[in-house]
Amino acid sequence: MVSIQIDTKSCTGCGLCVELCPLSVFDFAAPGGNSVPEVKRPEACCACMTCSGKCPQSAIRVAQSDPPKRWLDDESESPAVLLDQEEETRYKEYASVLDGILKLRWKPVAVTLIQQGEPFPHVPVPRVKLRYCQSLIMARRGKQILMPPSSHACPDGTSILGLTKIPPKLASGDIYIKLGKLASREAAQTLVNGRSTLPEESIRATLVTPLDDPVLRADIVVIIAPPETMMWLSMASTYFTGRRMNFQMGSYNAQCLETTVYPYTTREINLSLGCYGCRAISDLSDDLMFMGIPLEKMEQLIAGLTHLGRKAIPDARSKTYLPPLI
Ligand code: SF4
Ligand code: SF4
Repeated sequence: MVSIQIDTKSCTGCGLCVELCPLSVFDFAAPGGNSVPEVKRPEACCACMTCSGKCPQSAIRVAQSDPPKRWLDDESESPAVLLDQEEETRYKEYASVLDGILKLRWKPVAVTLIQQGEPFPHVPVPRVKLRYCQSLIMARRGKQILMPPSSHACPDGTSILGLTKIPPKLASGDIYIKLGKLASREAAQTLVNGRSTLPEESIRATLVTPLDDPVLRADIVVIIAPPETMMWLSMASTYFTGRRMNFQMGSYNAQCLETTVYPYTTREINLSLGCYGCRAISDLSDDLMFMGIPLEKMEQLIAGLTHLGRKAIPDARSKTYLPPLI
């Protein structure tokens, strides 16, 4: 449960929280504004922290208590179909080749979008609401995380991933103008209409696990790494075809859209620079990027990487062609 407190002594009644809350949790006590806002719809709050982060008086405190259940799987449902041994071994081999050749700092992450009607696996849900990108960032450190809509904290990412309906303020794009991220309604509409989203409420939960510790069949593999690693991954994926890559980037909705929904719907590899949201809420270093790889592309990518790992990668990494210093 989320609790929101407004320090009425500090609040100047500027109304920024009323304007910026994507889920319209606040309203003015008296019509017309210029009074201390009230928390009118606390049950709608997703703990995105936009209000507390943007309040010029730091007058809003958002706290999470009463942690949700640790497990969601239900004995009355048929159990989730876990990965068979052969597939689990394959994922572990992918992870081992990626790490052996590229010396990854962080574990690749297996993502499964659990559809409505599918059972939950026995995987813990987080104690507090998290953004989807935060769950990926934790999975790269070895965590398994299952998140139904009630565990998600980013209203943008949650609706893009098809877990919820899109809130009206996000559908119109107005929030991006109010947050100073876009210049006009036209630009906001172009942004909103140009992004792929999964059908509203079609997804029951997101599941992220390290690729070498999988639970269910993965839809997408996400890698978080610096540009040089992404270069080798791109080259590895085209090693047998030589084709050029087309990446869809907008730097809005990075992990949810660009590294998950886009590769999920197009079945193409995609690269992302990250979004301001996922950088603001995490300890991701500035030199990291994100790649989303549909599972069926992994076989060829790993084969290509194995060839590149024999000579091209060690040569380049040892700076073979560096001219002597004068
Ligand atoms: S945390 Fe987010 S959803 Fe909750 S009241 Fe603040 S802005 Fe609204
Ligand atoms: S990547 Fe950006 S839009 Fe997507 S869940 Fe994270 S903060 Fe939200």
